[in-house]
Amino acid sequence: MNVQVIPLAAGECLNIAALTERGAAWRIRAYPAGFALLLHPAQGAVLFDTGYSPRVQTLMRRWPGLLYGLVTPVRLHSSQTALARLARLGITTSDVRHLIVSHLHADHVGALRDFPAADIYLDAGAYPPLRGLRGLRAVRRAFLPELLPPDFEARSRALTFESAPPAFAPFETVADVFGDGSMYALPVPGHAPGMIALVVRTQDNAALDGDGSGLTLLASDAAWSAKAARSGEQGHPLSNLLFWDVKQGQRSREQLRDWLAAHPRTRVIVSHDAPEPEPAAPEPDA
Ligand SMILES: [Zn+2]
Repeated sequence: MNVQVIPLAAGECLNIAALTERGAAWRIRAYPAGFALLLHPAQGAVLFDTGYSPRVQTLMRRWPGLLYGLVTPVRLHSSQTALARLARLGITTSDVRHLIVSHLHADHVGALRDFPAADIYLDAGAYPPLRGLRGLRAVRRAFLPELLPPDFEARSRALTFESAPPAFAPFETVADVFGDGSMYALPVPGHAPGMIALVVRTQDNAALDGDGSGLTLLASDAAWSAKAARSGEQGHPLSNLLFWDVKQGQRSREQLRDWLAAHPRTRVIVSHDAPEPEPAAPEPDA
């Protein structure tokens, strides 16, 4: 099973660089709202998150979304939406039958309503803590309930976490999303409740217990940059204000760092940074 990973972005948000990276300037920087198209040989087009949509901008024009828009202003051109990006790749909304959600922050589920044919896969711990939140209490969690489709719960599929084989150490549990070894969800809660990262097999023969060749890690918001995912470096303490659970987040960051150290050739893609380049193809045998 080899899955092709196509990193995309739907808009960007503005944030203060010094909050995301230790030692960076107190200057406004634009961060892509990344998501990924995963082309699965049997399941077809699978999305990992969706980025922003014009719906987010509409919600940010009125209270209480207004406040969200003040903290992290959004830039999105109509040619940059998930729908527009997929259309240019020849993929329509009805082609997308599987949508894996890393966590429920607005920049990750902004376009959820644009994919009514998709089953929605997420950690069972992601939604319950947010379910009842409305208004300012929701916005404070970067959650805009209006972004969820009306049949969100009916289409939700809780990922089944089982005890992880040693190849995933130090992670204790992992979810084989389609039960075919093509992609595994790792629990990285903290930044948001029930957040997941995804390990994708991009080469048929990629070994899970090897050096990471043929694997791609979609780390979502577990780190602000691919470099920080590898070093385990955290953002400015002020950015902890937005964390769901700071201690959990620290543990998740360390586990991810240690897993990457054991599988250094894994390609790392985080949501708000440029994706690491694809590794060069191996030399063909002479
Ligand atoms: Zn987030």
